[in-house]
Amino acid sequence: MLDSASKAFFHTLAQSGLLKTLASRYGMRSPRSFARRFIAGETVDEAIEAARAVEAQGLMHTLDLLGESVTSLEQAAWATQQYLAMVEAIAKAGIGRGVSLKLTQLGLDVDKATAVDNLRRILERAEPAGFFIRVDMENSPYTDITLEIFETLWDQGHREIGVVLQSALYRSEKDLARMNALGASVRLVKGAYKEPASVAYQRKADVDAAFLRMVKALLTDGHRPAVATHDAAMIDAARRWAQEQQIAAERFEFQMLYGIRRDLQSQLVRDGYRMRVYIPFGREWFPYFMRRLGERPANVWFVVRGIAGETR
Ligand SMILES: Cc1cc2nc3c(=O)[nH]c(=O)nc-3n(C[C@H](O)[C@H](O)[C@H](O)COP(=O)(O)OP(=O)(O)OC[C@H]3O[C@@H](n4cnc5c(N)ncnc54)[C@H](O)[C@@H]3O)c2cc1C
Repeated sequence: MLDSASKAFFHTLAQSGLLKTLASRYGMRSPRSFARRFIAGETVDEAIEAARAVEAQGLMHTLDLLGESVTSLEQAAWATQQYLAMVEAIAKAGIGRGVSLKLTQLGLDVDKATAVDNLRRILERAEPAGFFIRVDMENSPYTDITLEIFETLWDQGHREIGVVLQSALYRSEKDLARMNALGASVRLVKGAYKEPASVAYQRKADVDAAFLRMVKALLTDGHRPAVATHDAAMIDAARRWAQEQQIAAERFEFQMLYGIRRDLQSQLVRDGYRMRVYIPFGREWFPYFMRRLGERPANVWFVVRGIAGETR
């Protein structure tokens, strides 16, 4: 995790028209283009192919159709249709049944009731077919509403659904207690967004300390807990805590993003842990891609080299 100044720099970079044009033009152009390191492809077939490769290594997965912040009901309806088609395609392919999505992709910024209806439609199709749907957490203006929508659906009896909490936010420890009490599955992350000091820790050490406190509460009191990080220190701490508390390895899972720390992903499987890879795909890959660059400056050189290679 970077400090907030670096995060701010990369978020500004993400808005850069030139970078966007170059990255969009070259990033996914061929199977070897640089964005494919982090994104499985633009189509569901490509995502399914990546998922099969992941399964062949003994890993599980959740597929994410990239897209966020849609600005019209038509776009939200289109995204919902895409998700429904994806559910069908995954079921037909016979691969593991996990899906991640964002509420702003389903129209939350346009009309809350429509976004909830869209999510319900997806759940009604996916749950009976054995899917688990994870609602990703977006930046802090969406925390309250995301948890509120989640609880509404939970109250209506949906159980194959889970949330995400970010250790960067001051509020998250309380939210974790609330979700644990409810019996809901939480994916714990550090948080991918640049947040103001009024709501979030600004120092990496503080975000990590909160993560360590939360991982203990999650493993001890949580339901189907997911520890989502590439940070070896966080992973070691989770493993140690589980051993000390005699929490069996089957009772929780680690999660990592596609293309990041593949060495550690395989190592965890070899050590007998459950490991799920988040596989993003789709045409709207740019904001996701820029967040991954923002997390690690070395990735920027990787992209600059990629653009230079593609334009030569
Ligand atoms: C499965 C999964 C789902 C997620 N869902 C959400 C969500 O819903 N909402 C949300 O806000 N965030 C989400 N995130 C992102 C998360 O919040 C962090 O931004 C991201 O995981 C980086 O933090 P880290 O815990 O890996 O630790 P860091 O301290 O950032 O990194 C630790 C080490 O991991 C490696 N690493 C980390 N990131 C990269 C990278 N981009 N490229 C190469 N190496 C890297 C490096 O070796 C680094 O030193 C998710 C992450 C995962 C793994």
